[in-house]
Order: sequence, then C-alpha cells, then structure tokens
Amino acid sequence: MSRLLITNSRIWQADRFLDGHSLLIEGGRISAISRAGEVAPLPGDRRLDADDCYALPGFVDLHLHGSDGCDVMDAKPESLRNLGAFLLRQGLTSCLGTTMADTPERISRALEVMREYIKTERGPFIGAHLEGPYLNAAYRGSQPAQHLRSPDPAEYRPWLDCGIIKLITLAPELAGGADLLAEAVARGIHVSIGHSAADYAAAGEFFRAGISQVTHTFNGMPGLHHRAPGILTAAIENPQVTFQVIADGVHVHPAVLRLLLRLAGGDRVLAISDAMRATGLADGIYGLGDVTVTARGGVARAADGGLAGSTLTMPVALRNLMRFCDLTLEQALPMLTRVPARSIGIYPRKGSLQVGADADVALWDEDVGIKATVLGGEVVYQAL
Ligand SMILES: [Zn+2]
Repeated sequence: MSRLLITNSRIWQADRFLDGHSLLIEGGRISAISRAGEVAPLPGDRRLDADDCYALPGFVDLHLHGSDGCDVMDAKPESLRNLGAFLLRQGLTSCLGTTMADTPERISRALEVMREYIKTERGPFIGAHLEGPYLNAAYRGSQPAQHLRSPDPAEYRPWLDCGIIKLITLAPELAGGADLLAEAVARGIHVSIGHSAADYAAAGEFFRAGISQVTHTFNGMPGLHHRAPGILTAAIENPQVTFQVIADGVHVHPAVLRLLLRLAGGDRVLAISDAMRATGLADGIYGLGDVTVTARGGVARAADGGLAGSTLTMPVALRNLMRFCDLTLEQALPMLTRVPARSIGIYPRKGSLQVGADADVALWDEDVGIKATVLGGEVVYQAL
C-alpha cells in the first residue's frame, strides 16, 4: 500500500492541536507527524490536503444499534455494510455494534453476521456490545419485556466464545449476574451496569468485582436520591468507573450533564450515540430491534412514550457537549475518542493520533462538519 500524506492540518495530540502539520501514514498506521515541508513526498505518495481543518482521531462509539434504516439486529451483511458506510460519513471509525434483548437465536445470528463482517470487510465495526438480554424489567426502558431473563451460562458461553464481544450491559443483581460478571472479567470482556435496580451497597460490590462502566448514565436506573444513593453515587466513588452519556439534550438535561462532569471529571465521561434505525432519516415509524418506535423532531419514543434510543450522530454529540457544558473542542474531544477507547483497552491504538496508532482520522471543520474520513490509512469518505 502506498503512503498517504495528509497536509495542512491541525493535528490533535492528546491535549492540544499542532497547527500547520502533516500526518504521514504507512501500512495503515501513523508513521510521522511533522511541520509542513519536513516530510519529502515520494513518487507514488497519495496526498490529502486538509485545507487547515482539524485532524481528529476517528470517533469511538461503544453503544450504537443502528442508523440510516439499518439495525444490528437485522442480522444481514448488507444492513451492516450500509450502516458502516453511514457511520464513516460521520467520522466514526471504531464502533461496537449493539444488540438488543431478543430470542437466543436472533442474538446469536446478529453476532455471527457481525463476526463475519468484521473478519472480511473494511468498516467501522471493531466488536459487539451485548446490551441484554440480562436486564432488570423494572428499568427496561424500551428493551422488550418478553425477552428479558436471568443469565444462563448455557446460553451466554457460546456468545462469549464468538470472540467479538467487547462490552456487556448487565443488571448484575439478577440471579447468575455475578457469575456472568466474573466470567466476562476473566476473559477480558468489559462489563457495564445498566437497566439495573441495584442499590448503593450492591452496586459498590459489583464495581469492586469488576464492573467498569455505567450504561447510558441516568437512563435505565434509579435516579439520584439523597436517602437512596444508588448506582450513580457508588459509581462516582469508584474512580475506575466511566460513564456513558447520550448528549442529545433529551436523555439527560444539560444541567445534569454539567453536574456529572463536575463530579466525575471529563476523563471519566464518554459520549455514546445509542443511535437507532431512524438516525439520519426523516421523522416516521421505525423498529428498534423488535420494538416499534416513532421518531418525531429527532426524538425516538416507543408506544408507551418512553425514550427508545436516539437519533444522535457523533459530530452532533461533539457540538452538543461543547454547547451544553461550555467546553472547548480540546475539552470535549477526549469524550468521543480517548475515554471510550481507554475504557475498553484499545487506547492509544484507537482514539489517538500518535505515531504507531491506527490511521483512523476524521477531518473536521467547525462550519462544515466532517470533510473526510480515513480508516486504516484509506480515504473512505470525502465530502465534495
Ligand atoms: Zn439501553
């Protein structure tokens, strides 16, 4: 593969931007970062002029069900292909395709199709996030009640064996929850508490036993109450725990996002989209897994009126975080790159632009949005 030289860009380097620099990519990785003119182009080099826009690490989204009419639970290669192409246009280069509570057969099939896709095709999927089916019915949100159950090793072992699950959202208080937690942790699979009714004491135990994340924080769990400190307080008190947030201004009020940032610090908060099929499309009636959802004004709700995933994209999440929380780009960006990548153990290979990292780059302009996306050193999207 020939070298790719991205010139004239403002390159993110962990905590600041280097203006007027070039990024040299060889063999799918970043091989040098230099001032303009310092790298002598070779014959055959491909060039991409960034035209003074920002070179960001490709976004990392650990919680995404679908977009653009497609859903991971479709369990169809063409659906993943279309979804992947849509995500790359949003500068998203590392994504965990997220399943819903469903029959064992349909979850198995969705994982199998995703495994095959990851093995054979170039796209943003780097693994799966198993959201359920081991969730607490009392905080199910839009997860279908008839598919919720307690963890059963005979069911989940083949899923863990398939090798692509990087994250599990679990209500650990269910019978067998602690066993699944122990087995996942032993296999290096990260576990996030969510759709859970665990109280403060129990949640603290589960964090000490290895739960490292909170799924769509504030949603699908008891709220913060001064006599019932709950999952949220226990999570704040365990510094290794990170918080997924849906920064669409609907799932969490901006003031509460600001509160979380003050309590936990930006290094423990990661943006997820929790995007569903209607993302990128007009308002209308869509499915979220098995559930029928109406999207109106970009807000997706199930028949009972509860929120059912979002229609958020990562570029919009970035802008929202800056606006809602009065953050600079430098302060907000780690929540879409470094923090999620580190929380599942893939930083700095993903979520950074340091030498040696995978060449996953989003060229971003404050006015235009994503201008180009590079995945593994290949230009996979370029705006006209
Ligand atoms: Zn959920």
